[in-house]
Amino acid sequence: MSRFAEPMARLIEELKKLPGIGGKSAQRLAFHILRSSDDDAEALASAVRDLKAQLRLCSICNNITDVDPCSYCTNPTRNHRLVCVVEEPTNIAAIEKTKHFNGVYHVLHGTISPLHGVGPEHLRISNLTRRVDAGEVDEVILATNPTIEGEATASYLADALKKLRVKVTRIATGVPAGSDIEYTDEVTMHKAIEGRREL
Ligand SMILES: [Zn+2]
Repeated sequence: MSRFAEPMARLIEELKKLPGIGGKSAQRLAFHILRSSDDDAEALASAVRDLKAQLRLCSICNNITDVDPCSYCTNPTRNHRLVCVVEEPTNIAAIEKTKHFNGVYHVLHGTISPLHGVGPEHLRISNLTRRVDAGEVDEVILATNPTIEGEATASYLADALKKLRVKVTRIATGVPAGSDIEYTDEVTMHKAIEGRREL
């Protein structure tokens, strides 16, 4: 039997499912929520509920959005013929902060990882190939992370996309090998895009 009252034990169990949250942190957070005002606790609960109820994936680029298509896909000042492919929606922020990329995005929501049983069929690729196949794209920049999985994904996509006769480029190695582009500073990220090479 848990040493906590059932509602507390339940919240701790749920918090432990969050990335980076161990048992100790989960307990600390749960007690913090217990001590907070009813309004704050309700605001947290409704923010979680609304996140799931109101957010969806953009039907064009798979970015997380509350309006479909997303604000990048409908922005008339952006170059819709230049598409930057990233692993996760959070990677878009890393590229946006360079302020030098004016194209649009495509989010894969993962990488190919044979070790974890993730094949290309588990990624969101079909709406990208559809865009390219329809002749809507001049260049696809592959900005997956410089990890084994990111490189495997980039090489799979390069092969698949080149068959559709589109220019395919890979960001330069200014991004340290094995790292996550989410944590790359804007100067390095800018150089990585500037120095991209054709595949
Ligand atoms: Zn979009």
